[in-house]
Amino acid sequence: MSIKKLESQKAVFFDIGSTLVEGPEISPAKYITRLLELPVGESSRLGQLIMCREYKGWEELCCDLDESFRPLTDQQEAEIARLWEGQETAASEINEATAVVARFAGEGYQVGLVSNIWAPYYRSFLKACPEIARISGCAALSFQTGKKKPSFALLKKGLSVLGADPQRSIMIGDTYLEDILPAMELGLKTIWVLCRPEREKRAADQVQKGNWPPPDLTVSRIGELLKTDLTLFNKLYTGGRFLCINQQVSERDRASLDIVKKKKQDEE
Ligand SMILES: [Mg+2]
Repeated sequence: MSIKKLESQKAVFFDIGSTLVEGPEISPAKYITRLLELPVGESSRLGQLIMCREYKGWEELCCDLDESFRPLTDQQEAEIARLWEGQETAASEINEATAVVARFAGEGYQVGLVSNIWAPYYRSFLKACPEIARISGCAALSFQTGKKKPSFALLKKGLSVLGADPQRSIMIGDTYLEDILPAMELGLKTIWVLCRPEREKRAADQVQKGNWPPPDLTVSRIGELLKTDLTLFNKLYTGGRFLCINQQVSERDRASLDIVKKKKQDEE
């Protein structure tokens, strides 16, 4: 019935890594790629594997790596066990992250988590940010759903579980191509936490030049959202942001945008 539609909820979705918590500089996928001396190109297949399966422990992970890549030495198994155990306690809350989540909840937003993450680091997040875990009504996680951002599957799951209207909802994250662009495509408003500008340099350049669509708001750290005027997000989404992509987008940049758009088509 249409009344339900009128009453659809507004929600805010947070990425986890480098948005709410910080941890080791090097990602598990990169660490394991180096440990197994895999070609750099294998890093993304490895990331797909370790972030999209729910391993019971490091032993199961080692078996999977053994089958999918190459037999592991005892030394490599010991390193993986150490990585896994380290990840269980590696996350620490980014300053004021809990206060920001609580602020949005206090303003009537339902809270969801949308993250490419594996099980040990997620447990570490839960220990580091118990209040955020308590406030959140939904966690759409790659290791549980079998899909990684920029796939739309995680955000769509979050919207559906919370019964949220994309146009009244916001995505907050630190990675343009994973957090911001897919959310824009689904009609959400976006806040880019540009806390690691060196890693996001290419996206930041393209946004600045007007080649890639800009987020509704960019902040340099999540704590800035304690003071932001949230009424900015009450305006209805007007759409058409992709029209600002001009004709001079380079082949490489066009390819990145196309990957995200293609994923959307594949999933529809
Ligand atoms: Mg992140």
